[in-house]
Amino acid sequence: MYEQTVVVLARATAFTVVCQACAEGLNAGDYSGMSAEGTLRLEQDFGWTTCPRGHRIRVIRAGAGVRAEPTSPLW
Ligand SMILES: [Zn+2]
Repeated sequence: MYEQTVVVLARATAFTVVCQACAEGLNAGDYSGMSAEGTLRLEQDFGWTTCPRGHRIRVIRAGAGVRAEPTSPLW
């Protein structure tokens, strides 16, 4: 399964990301319909969301001590 991870701002509690798994199959710039929205409580450092097509996206909070490469163009 396609693995993808996004990083949200340290104080963010909600986020919107573009699903890379969906984006790879479509023309560049056509991001409509493949953004995933999610929430992350302040006390949580990790979470996950799914895009409208069911791809799982891991979420890491910035400053959580985890090094991760940004994989989302909206990061
Ligand atoms: Zn997707």
